[in-house]
Amino acid sequence: MTPGPAAGAADADGSPITVEAYQSAILSAITPLPRVQLELAAAEGCVLAEDVTAAVPLPSFDNSSMDGYAVQACDVAGAAQQAPALLRVTGEIAAGDVGAYRLAPGTAIKIMTGAQLPAGTDAVVPVEWTDGGIEQVAVYRPAEPGNAVRYAGGDAAEGETLLSAGARMRPMQIAVAASAGRKAVTVRPRPRVVVLSTGDELTEPGTPLVPGQIWDSNSYMIAACAREAGAVAYRHAVVPDDPAGVLPALEEQLSRADLLITTGGVSMGGEHDVVKAALRELGTVTFRKVAMQPGMPQGFGMIGHEKIPIFTLPGNPVSAYVSFQVFVRPAIAALQGADDLSLPVVRATLSGPVRSPAGRRSYLRGVLDGSAVTPLSGQQSHQVASLGRANALIVVPEGETQLPAGHTADVLVLP
Ligand code: AMP
Ligand code: MG
Repeated sequence: MTPGPAAGAADADGSPITVEAYQSAILSAITPLPRVQLELAAAEGCVLAEDVTAAVPLPSFDNSSMDGYAVQACDVAGAAQQAPALLRVTGEIAAGDVGAYRLAPGTAIKIMTGAQLPAGTDAVVPVEWTDGGIEQVAVYRPAEPGNAVRYAGGDAAEGETLLSAGARMRPMQIAVAASAGRKAVTVRPRPRVVVLSTGDELTEPGTPLVPGQIWDSNSYMIAACAREAGAVAYRHAVVPDDPAGVLPALEEQLSRADLLITTGGVSMGGEHDVVKAALRELGTVTFRKVAMQPGMPQGFGMIGHEKIPIFTLPGNPVSAYVSFQVFVRPAIAALQGADDLSLPVVRATLSGPVRSPAGRRSYLRGVLDGSAVTPLSGQQSHQVASLGRANALIVVPEGETQLPAGHTADVLVLP
């Protein structure tokens, strides 16, 4: 992004840019975190920075998919309920038995699910098709060659790509890596995010409130948002509106952060907007108006030698929340070299009318139920009560100032 206009030149921060233009400016400025090797137990939520291939065929040996009897299919070809095939049982193979067995023609070996198939076997008769005999078994149905057999390589061939770089290590992918024998994988780690709220009016939840004060909700909320998006988040104590204190507080966090997020202090209120005042001097953070509601005043840039990305989100809790979901979430993915964190969008029918300011995209709190979405009352950006009832954000495009009930709209599904 280009640096912001010089202080004083435009407290208006220029004309608003679109949500998409702002999103892409952010994403193009983000460099993925360095790759690290992590043991599987620590890799969950990280993003693969290598392909994971099958070093051996999966499974690596022919085995039984059922509890039953290993046989030669030709020995049970004529089996029927009235005329069972009678086979002498010469042994038993359990899962994990690494012995070498061979089936003699005309006999059976009892075999368990996952146990190695004895040589000379071409089918397994499930125990349900037999009398379950121990010394001799009566088989009541014929089994085709290959019946209940899991062949080596039947899941994946040797050398096959099982997981591609860019895949997020969710439980399913952890299973694949472990099944392929991998102890560790090369990934981009979970970004470390430090969240810091500013405001003289903010006090800690749990302390008594004096008129003029509010409890800080943003830092807890945004840290929770970051964790939900897969980051490791730390919440900093409230930072007062002291222009001299903001920058040192941020700089102190640089060594433990891959991403900084502040809330508050970036609107148009002059000297009280301490975040904007402190960061504008650096020249590496750009303050913009984005054509949206809530969340119009935004700041993004880099700070410190390491050029740690920083988002300065507006202070109203709903503005901060929407800004996180629309701008920060994809940026967390980008830090991991991924692009999978944008919220899912569905089309839904409005159960009530909605309004939106001209020229701005509105994100309205709603309750999505199937293909219908109900706008909530209490849409001002300080109204957290309705945020607590919402499970979706209704998107009203820039070109619309109202949409009637019955209209369809894009709806972001909240995580
Ligand atoms: P600001 O962006 O600092 O001008 O704040 C805008 C509005 O958001 C004001 O009403 C603030 O009191 C409120 N606000 C700012 N920070 C927080 C916070 N951490 N928690 C709750 N409300 C906040
Ligand atoms: Mg403030």
